[in-house]
Formats: sequence, structure tokens, C-alpha cells
Amino acid sequence: MVSAQVVWAKALPVLQEEMTPTSYKTWVKDIKPISIEGNTLILMAQNELYLSTLRQFYTNIVTECVNKANGTNYAVSFIVKEEAEPAVSVPVQGSAEKGVFYGVQPKYTFDTFVTGESNRFAHAAAVAVADNPASAYNPLYIYGGSGLGKTHILHAIGNYVHELHPEFNICFVSSEDFTNDVIAAIKYDTREELRRKYRNLDLLLVDDIQFIGGKEATEMEFFNTFNALHGSNKQIVITSDKSPKDLPLLQDRLKTRFAWGITADIKPPEVETRVAILKGKAERDNIDISNDALLYMAEQFSANVRELECCYNRVVLYADFSKRASIDRSFVEIVLKDYVSSEGKHMVTPDLIKQVTADYFDITVDDLVSTRRDKRIAVPRHVAMYLCRTLTNISYPDIGKAFGGKHYSTVMYSCDQIASEIGQRLDISTAIDDITNRLTNDLTVMPDKERA
Ligand code: ADP
Ligand code: MG
Repeated sequence: MVSAQVVWAKALPVLQEEMTPTSYKTWVKDIKPISIEGNTLILMAQNELYLSTLRQFYTNIVTECVNKANGTNYAVSFIVKEEAEPAVSVPVQGSAEKGVFYGVQPKYTFDTFVTGESNRFAHAAAVAVADNPASAYNPLYIYGGSGLGKTHILHAIGNYVHELHPEFNICFVSSEDFTNDVIAAIKYDTREELRRKYRNLDLLLVDDIQFIGGKEATEMEFFNTFNALHGSNKQIVITSDKSPKDLPLLQDRLKTRFAWGITADIKPPEVETRVAILKGKAERDNIDISNDALLYMAEQFSANVRELECCYNRVVLYADFSKRASIDRSFVEIVLKDYVSSEGKHMVTPDLIKQVTADYFDITVDDLVSTRRDKRIAVPRHVAMYLCRTLTNISYPDIGKAFGGKHYSTVMYSCDQIASEIGQRLDISTAIDDITNRLTNDLTVMPDKERA
């Protein structure tokens, strides 16, 4: 009989192929094959933190790849080391791990970030910090309204520093994910692991810090993390929707610390910047579009770059459907007029839901209907399936078909999962609200009839 080691060794290259490099490196690379019991391949995760994520999000893809690679039909089961062994407390300091690069999205760089009066200072501060981590401004705190490029800048800092210092340990985390890590660490008593993850960093990028306010254990852990990193001269960058003093739920001691470094706000971009953002996108997408057309779009959407991009995507999509080689102002006007004249609610269809959900989460529709199981894709897919179920009267099997031929039980499971998470996860409930809003009211969403 083949050994678990052989089976796993064959599966690894297939997994590497099927997963994003970050997911592979973070979740799969360090799994240890243990044994084959009957028809089940037993795999060991590093600790409870990994275990819960692997079970929840990676069982399917791991099972698929193991069987694909070996021509077998194994089930896969994840375990952690028996508690019988004395729990060795990992020293927080002195972990030799180098070059950890976690959570940063490569596509958001300084190259693609357009500057103008509205964001010049924040951009300059971000570049200064990226050039000289922990010596320019620490922490750097960037705040501003939704869709103005805070997350983009945060990733850009990560990418820049990673390129300059590949040996640096860098982590991008949303405050939501940080909170989940803290909860898991408390639940499974793996606080040492948590500390090792966050306190051996050279650069910590925390997105949307406002959401940790009022969560006592998380705030405490963040406070200690902050002190440990700051105290050992490591860079911290934070984004938020408000200035530190205006964060209602946050403890004063954190607010004080946020003001130790430098605080920079981002305002809605001026029309020239909006045009330049669109122009940059069109150039990268190789789209032939007139300056007039860009200006017209930029004039319609002033307060939020995300919405502006959404409008641009519609126009490009529409041009693609109608097989247009170039886009001029009158074409954009027609497209926008169609939104306006569609009055009230659009016909919501799975195609439209997929498109708007993909836009919202910044992934592609192809990702959404793919078999990828990493969280970045799987969560949006669950959300889109849930919306199909609640906003249309299409059956589970038909929703499955609309998502690349998934089994109806998968769809049911996804919908149930989202339904149970709505009340518990702010990111999920916000996503559902926002997407539903865009689908039913937002004029930047193209009505379905025009897509045919
Ligand atoms: P926030 O985090 O402030 O809500 P994001 O960083 O997610 O906003 O930005 C929303 C979208 O707008 C992203 O696709 C981002 O790339 C784009 N964007 C925002 N500001 C700019 C800018 N100045 N230049 C280029 N793209 C931008
Ligand atoms: Mg953001």
C-alpha cells in the first residue's frame, strides 16, 4: 500500500498549481502527511489556528488535488498534534522565520496610484515610510472616506517594502481578520502562536482599524502588538475611516499611540485626478477611449473612486458586448442615459449578481465561477450564491449551473453559511447590503436587458 508521504508528495505540485501562491504558502506548504486510515488520508496542521481554517476552507480543494494527482478517491482529514505531548511554549522573540509576506495583493502598487491635491500628502507619507520603514513616521495613520484609495496605498507600501527588503516579515491584515485571529487564539488557547505571527513582523499593515473599537480582547491584543512592534522599532501603518480622535469606540490609550507618528487624510479626488485614474486604467486595459468620454464619466462620479471604477467597468463591458473598437463621449452618454432611464429597480439576474459581486470584491467573474477555494474567492462566491437565492427565484441546481456547474448541495451549504454569518460578521453584512443596493438602486449598474 502506498504511504501517506508518497500520496502527499504527488498532491503538492497540483495544489501549487491550483492555488494562489500566497494561499499555498500560508496554508498548505507546511502540512505534514501522517497516515492513510482505510480510505482517509490523515494530514497534520501546524496548530489549531491552521486546523480550523484548513477544515473550513481547504478540505475540498485538498481532497480534489490529492485525488487528481494520485488517481484515487481518498477522503481527507486534518488533525493537529496530540495534546499528550507537553505543550512547548514558543518563545515570542527569536523566531528565525524571514521573508514572511502575508496578505498583500500584488496588483495594488504605487505605480498605479494616481496622485492629486486630495491625496498628495498621504501618498508622500506612504512613500517615505516605504522607503525608510520605522525611521520616517511610525505609525503612519491614513484616514478618509470609502473608496478613496486607503487600502490601495496600504498594499502599495507592502509591495514596495517587499521589493526593497525581501527578507522583511510583512503582514497585511484587516481588523476583521485580526479580530478573528484573536478569537481563535483565545478559543484554542494558541495565544503564543498569535504573538509569534504578529510580533515578529518588520511591517504590519492594518486596514480599517475602526472595526476593532469596542472589542475588548482584540483591542488589548492590538495594543500589546503595537507596543511590541513600536518598541522594537518596527513599522506600523494603519488605515481608518476617521481620524484617531474621532474613533468613537476606541480606547484613549490607542488613540494616543496612533498620534505618535503621522496622520494623513485622503479627500475625494479632484476631477483631474479622477480623469487621470480612468486614463491609467484604460491604458492598462488597452481600451481606446476619448478624453471627452473620460471627462464625462469623471464628472458623474465625484465622491468615490470605487464607484467611478464601477461605472468605467460597465462602459467597457457594454462596449465589449456591442463590439465597439473605440469609446467616445456620446457612447458613454448613451450608456449612462440607459441607466437613468431604467427607472427604479433593474431585473436582477445571476449574471448581473456575479458581475457586481466580483466588482465589489475586486475579483473577476471567472474567479467567482472557478473551483478555487481560497478565502479571497470562496467568500465572494458564497455571497453571490446567497444573493442569487434571495434576489431571484432560481433553484439551487440552476444557481449551481450558473457558477460553473457546482452541485446543488454546495450551493445550499454556501447559502446557509452566509445566512448564519450575516448577523455575526460585519464584512459579510456590509457586502450584502452594498451589493444589493448597487443591484437594485445604483445607477452605475447596467440593467440586464442591455447586456443581451
Ligand atoms: P478605500 O480602502 O479607501 O475604501 P480602495 O483603496 O479600496 O478604497 O480604492 C477603491 C478602488 O479605487 C480601488 O480599485 C483602487 O485601486 C482605486 N483607487 C482609489 N484611489 C485611487 C488613486 N488615487 N489612483 C488609482 N486608483 C485608485
Ligand atoms: Mg479599504
